[in-house]
Amino acid sequence: MRQRAARDQKRLDSGAVTSPKDLENLQRELASLAKRQGDLEDVVLEVMERREAAQERAAELTGRVAAIQAKVDDATARRDAAYAEIDAEAASVTKERELTVADIPEALVKLYDRIRAKEGGVGAARLYQRRCEGCRLELNITELNEVRAAAADAVVRCENCGRILVRTPDSGL
Ligand SMILES: [Zn+2]
Repeated sequence: MRQRAARDQKRLDSGAVTSPKDLENLQRELASLAKRQGDLEDVVLEVMERREAAQERAAELTGRVAAIQAKVDDATARRDAAYAEIDAEAASVTKERELTVADIPEALVKLYDRIRAKEGGVGAARLYQRRCEGCRLELNITELNEVRAAAADAVVRCENCGRILVRTPDSGL
């Protein structure tokens, strides 16, 4: 388009075009070309502005992705640390249990494990103020009398949930 405008201008300047009609046509075409060039420059400007905005948006999104990734990394690190802590605690508790079990008669341990498997992981419960802390039910007077009559080293169980009752000074006996 620029080439065409330059060619037209050259023809105009050369004085080769002498007919008034041709001159007028040529000038009109030059004006039209100038307008189109202006329009195209506006389009180019707009495209450049949009590209700039898109680049800014891309940079912003890249930044956000990096921030989110940092959060994911942080959460992953904390999760791994928590896993390690839980593993260490589990190992410690397992060791502690082994030591405790070593001092308890085998039959009682078996009974405890059987009840524990059946009662959601709790095989023994404290008898606290006449209440089984396993099932939260209060023992009736007959049950209390039976517990009172039992020898100190006898294994007493909750009539309701079957858990081994652990007697303490707070049992309310
Ligand atoms: Zn109970």
